[in-house]
Amino acid sequence: MPPLVMFDLDQTLTESKQPLTPHMAELLARLLVKTRVAVISGGGLPQFLKQVVDQLSPDVKLSHLYLLPTSGATLYEWRDGAWQKVYEEELSEKDAAKVARAIRAVAAETGLVDFSIPSYGERIEYRGSQVTFSANGQEAPLEIKARWDPDKSKRRMLQKALSACLPDFSVGMGGSNSVDITYKGIDKAYGLTKLAERLNVPIREIVYVGDQLTPGGNDEAVLRTLAKTRAVNGPSETALFIASLLSE
Ligand SMILES: [Mg+2]
Repeated sequence: MPPLVMFDLDQTLTESKQPLTPHMAELLARLLVKTRVAVISGGGLPQFLKQVVDQLSPDVKLSHLYLLPTSGATLYEWRDGAWQKVYEEELSEKDAAKVARAIRAVAAETGLVDFSIPSYGERIEYRGSQVTFSANGQEAPLEIKARWDPDKSKRRMLQKALSACLPDFSVGMGGSNSVDITYKGIDKAYGLTKLAERLNVPIREIVYVGDQLTPGGNDEAVLRTLAKTRAVNGPSETALFIASLLSE
């Protein structure tokens, strides 16, 4: 059993923005008895609580669970009956405003996103350590998101244009219609490395499970670390993998 198993959230533990299924919640509960588990994603903490923590039974071993919202720019652990922030690489308000200006400029320049068309919730969301730019808005229905950029070409264009005007920032592939902007060097590899230090676990013994462990995918950064990786094509394959760990 690895000393730490780290999971991507959307399309790895759950369908996009959906809660854990009862089956997945049960598997995670059993895994938490045996080892430490981390979840990392571009979403904010409320999204983690809704999709993951609220679906776990109350007797689950939360002291073994680590949450890394905003792609590892923040780490939470369960201590004294609450989620305690271990660190947060927070963007200053001035820098967040600079990022928002760049997003609007790039949207207009590339013609990819028209801000005059009403969106489903906010297009630009400040999440403390990260600014998320969602082409159709945060609350866009799944089918609209899925249709917008199936081959990632639009997000790649946004990524390239934003990186060019924000040299001190990292622009990462977000969800199916979003890009995430953080200070340079903050990504899933950063989060994994910080947690390994915190737990004093050798990185090469960690197993990372994700659906986007491909070039340009939002789990790609992890490939730069020494962690073992396990690519999955969705939650059902993840469930099989957890079951195989538990039966070892
Ligand atoms: Mg994913």
